[in-house]
Amino acid sequence: MTDNSAACGGPDVENGFGRFFLPGPTEVRPAVLAAQKRALIGHRGEPINALMREIQPGLRAVFGTARPVLVSTSSATGLMEAAVRNGARERVLSLVNGAFSERFARIARACGFEVDVVEAPWGGVHDPDAVRARLRAGHYDAVTMVHSETSTGALNPIADLAAAVREFPGTLVLVDAVTSAGGAPVQADDRGLDFVLAGSQKAMALPPGLAFGVASERMLERSASAARRGVYFDLVAFYNALAKEQTPNTPAVTLMYSLAEQLRHISAEGLERRWRRHAAMARRCADWADASGERIGAGLSVLAPDGFRSPTVTCLLLPPGRTGPEVAHAMKERGFVIGAGYGRLKPRSVRIGHMGDHTVEELDRVLEALEEVLRAPPGQGLAGGSR
Ligand SMILES: *Cc1c(COP(=O)(O)O)cnc(C)c1O
Repeated sequence: MTDNSAACGGPDVENGFGRFFLPGPTEVRPAVLAAQKRALIGHRGEPINALMREIQPGLRAVFGTARPVLVSTSSATGLMEAAVRNGARERVLSLVNGAFSERFARIARACGFEVDVVEAPWGGVHDPDAVRARLRAGHYDAVTMVHSETSTGALNPIADLAAAVREFPGTLVLVDAVTSAGGAPVQADDRGLDFVLAGSQKAMALPPGLAFGVASERMLERSASAARRGVYFDLVAFYNALAKEQTPNTPAVTLMYSLAEQLRHISAEGLERRWRRHAAMARRCADWADASGERIGAGLSVLAPDGFRSPTVTCLLLPPGRTGPEVAHAMKERGFVIGAGYGRLKPRSVRIGHMGDHTVEELDRVLEALEEVLRAPPGQGLAGGSR
């Protein structure tokens, strides 16, 4: 078994899988990690073509597309940048309802685009009618949105939002599906998403280092004349290389071995079952929180509203007197890794990443430990504040 633990303060190997519940990176099956040990191959020639061929059906299924899915050696943020560089000309509308959707807007601005923002409260989701109204009031080349907002645990109604944007012909739909792809239906083709991106280390339960994306035909047309598309994230170059079953530059080949292995596991489970397993974990987390008041005294609440909760990550608002870092630290002392809140939510919430290959049974053990932590007086081990 691979060691991702003791020395660096990670989960206890003795207890094996099922203790590492960060909302990314997520726990990786030993067999998937071990797949990286195969001998290297060059990035031109038949062996890489065979590997690229092998991973396509699984990736297309995850994204719900018949189109080729590109593999980028970068973290997901790289493909967020690719989305705006290739998909925008001048003006971008960013739907912001948390830290990652805010990052999307910041990237677009940093790339030189004129960015307007539609803001929804952190924890909330976007209203398609509000988006429609903004698009009626002025033209935008593209709209950025995050499907599963990992900082808040909210799941945007991506189908309805995309449908609203598609009423405006020149406006492309750019979607960050980083914590939904592999844990929830993305349905890129059916929903008319022009560019969808995800990273390897979230619901796909791979090591960090790869990102995946799928571009529509009109996204590629836009890209062909996009002045700021640059070199490393040039989607035209990616799709030209894909046609030859290659990548434009040297890919992280060993991570692609892991990807091929994990896609076999995903296919063996079946995507529908995988999505149901994630939905069941989210429901368990919410039910536990709803009942926690009776058992703990002061209860927790799920930040995102019912009906718009991510199946892969839950953000729990803590009772008064408890802080995210303090509770996460106390969990670590019990051998479980969960996330403190993100950004401005850090002081008063924790996040459980119930994604990838975790099960409801494993989650139950996390919730049991969390209940113990919350029953004990606060601040044991860490005085409420830093980290
Ligand atoms: C983790 C995450 C990202 C950033 O991914 P990196 O791989 O760290 O670049 C972007 N968007 C969402 C929704 C995420 O959860």
